[in-house]
Amino acid sequence: MRQWIKWVTGFLALSVIMVMIGAVFSKLDEKKGNGGISPVAATEVDRPVTVVIDAGHGGEDGGCIGADGTLEKDLNLAVAAELCDILQASGINAVLIRDEDKMLYDMYGDLESYEGQKKTYDLRNRVRFAEESGCRLFCSIHMNKFADTKYSGLQVYCSVNDSDSITAGVRIQSYVKNYLQPDNSRQIKRAGSEIYVLNRAQMPAVLVECGFLSNSEELSLLNDGEYRKKLAFCIAAGIADSLCNFRT
Ligand SMILES: [Zn+2]
Repeated sequence: MRQWIKWVTGFLALSVIMVMIGAVFSKLDEKKGNGGISPVAATEVDRPVTVVIDAGHGGEDGGCIGADGTLEKDLNLAVAAELCDILQASGINAVLIRDEDKMLYDMYGDLESYEGQKKTYDLRNRVRFAEESGCRLFCSIHMNKFADTKYSGLQVYCSVNDSDSITAGVRIQSYVKNYLQPDNSRQIKRAGSEIYVLNRAQMPAVLVECGFLSNSEELSLLNDGEYRKKLAFCIAAGIADSLCNFRT
């Protein structure tokens, strides 16, 4: 019986999020010229908006580890793949930088040997991929970890190289708070040189720390596929909303 109630509650919550996101995506359609709210040149109407989604870490770089052995790289890929599917279904040209479990240091075959430079090239290639794609937004997906296990909640870091990064960060953070984590009082953060991909990316760029693997409650949520789907819906809604409000 309890399982049944849980299933119905989950279904209803997902339905609400889907209705909400539908409204946001139709707003994006109007912005693209299909609804007539923002007049745009004919050449812009059918131009697909590209969003690059970066599942952090991969391969020998597992990222942080939960108490139950959960690896950050696996959750990153699971959330990134959900997010990519939702954005693609809405007509956005969403692209995953990695869709398998591997580091990306040899993506472009720059060197004979990457020994001692794997992490540097891995991060450099993620930014290069985003730059060469001509994307409107770079969104990197990660998980958090902290010594004090009481901390939980999604938090978005924003690049300071393009002010539209803040637009995206604020909206992702607020959709997650409004529809998934009502107690989340975290604010977006402006990233410095400590976050390589945000420091180097010249396009609007955000890094989403989806939750804390050090918090057992949040860890079990992140390990639940239905929760990850809701999380991805909220991030997607934030992205779609922000694309309608980019300054450039
Ligand atoms: Zn990470």
